[in-house]
Amino acid sequence: MSGPRLQGRRIVITGAAAGIGRATAELFAAEGASLALLDRDATSLGELAGEAISVDVSDEKSVATAITKAASAMGGIDGVVNVAGIFPVAALEDTSLDLWEKTIAVNLTGPFLIARAALPHLRKAGKATIVNLSSASAIVPFRELSAYGASKGGIITLSKVWASELGPKIRVNVVCPGMTRTRMVSDWHPDSEKLAQTAKATYALQRIAEPVEVAKAILFLTSDESSFTTGSTMTVDGGRTFH
Ligand code: NAD
Repeated sequence: MSGPRLQGRRIVITGAAAGIGRATAELFAAEGASLALLDRDATSLGELAGEAISVDVSDEKSVATAITKAASAMGGIDGVVNVAGIFPVAALEDTSLDLWEKTIAVNLTGPFLIARAALPHLRKAGKATIVNLSSASAIVPFRELSAYGASKGGIITLSKVWASELGPKIRVNVVCPGMTRTRMVSDWHPDSEKLAQTAKATYALQRIAEPVEVAKAILFLTSDESSFTTGSTMTVDGGRTFH
């Protein structure tokens, strides 16, 4: 396919201020998309091309306002990418109800609220896409990730429900990254040398991902190049889940 792959597409990206969401915003802008960039940290969105919109994805009213702003800034919405997420690590006995509820609220309720609010616009667009971010750790889980694992497992099933319900006009897919070089991972593994050793031992590709490598999979699932793909769960994990 030649030419920009998202020319004329109007896309909402959540979690666009940092990490994978930011790399996706940069790649999508280069591919010709109009963008509404949503994040709770709206100040760093200003450096990116697109409409910067402040949101808490776990708050119904905040999401409704943000999606209305996004649709009016772009003249509609024909794609949503749900990247915003949090990653609390805690043993089961240390997982407070508050931590559990907050994680589910951001990682699972957030994509639900965003997609539901965007749906009338996606339907109007005719052909539309939703891409949700899960994790390789939803497929081969790690210990001490009760709330995160539940939220990321839930998003895979939720996406299949939507793919069934919203076809043929709206395609819904999931990307499951392995460890990717973002703040989320450096907070978890502050020792980068040790992290590199872990990746060498547990990843077929012997390294962690750069954010743009995950963004490229999101681009594929948002563009027409994946026109016959829906309800699919794509691992972008350097082989971690089978190696
Ligand atoms: P990150 O922490 O670098 O960025 C997350 C972004 O989400 C931030 O800009 C943050 O402000 C935003 N955000 C968090 N809570 C929000 C809320 N309530 N409302 C609005 N915005 C909110 O994270 P990342 O590493 O880029 O991860 C992005 C997604 O990919 C997450 O869903 C994460 O679970 C998933 N993921 C990441 C990795 C990894 O290794 N980095 C691996 C697997 C899955």
